[in-house]
Amino acid sequence: MQLRFATDFTSSEYVKRQAWKDATLERCPLHPAGGCSFARHGTYERVDPPGTRIPRWYCPEGHCTFSLLADCFAARLSGSLQEVEEVVVAVEQAASREAAADDLRTDIELPGALRWIRRRLKAVHAALTLLLGLFPDLLTGCQPSVCAFRQWLGVDWILPVLREIAELQLARLPPPLGFQPPVGRGGESKQPRQHQVGPDPPAPIA
Ligand SMILES: [Zn+2]
Repeated sequence: MQLRFATDFTSSEYVKRQAWKDATLERCPLHPAGGCSFARHGTYERVDPPGTRIPRWYCPEGHCTFSLLADCFAARLSGSLQEVEEVVVAVEQAASREAAADDLRTDIELPGALRWIRRRLKAVHAALTLLLGLFPDLLTGCQPSVCAFRQWLGVDWILPVLREIAELQLARLPPPLGFQPPVGRGGESKQPRQHQVGPDPPAPIA
């Protein structure tokens, strides 16, 4: 289960300061009153930026692992939330997705670049659309785009700010902004209850 690690660090600052060592999870989320053997459970590695570690906890009674993902990182996608935001803004402001794809991904062919863009755009816009419904008092009249959200809330980088605003709703929001578990074709959750020891968790929208 992924949980929020509130921090202002950029991803490179996070690595440089080894900020995962400062992350704390006081109580087991499954047993907040205590009584289980909940304890810190090492870290797992994220590929980008090199040297990134994500801290984990484990509740043996609940058979559940918890990881604390810092606000700078995209969920279930390598890299930072800022990198995702840059892509979405570039597409929102481009004359066409094809033009944006030509600018953003010179290393791969156009169809692959368009798929890469579409996954990010679709996931972020889906999260923004959900947020309009979850926060009507704050967002009524705003459009579900990153550019509109930035202007509406008066911030330079909206996705890390939304992790804070929507902290209690992150499990209902799709990644890379939210921590919603992947859903199988039959509607059941495909989220493994434990993270594997190894690199990033599975990234269905990579
Ligand atoms: Zn527990």
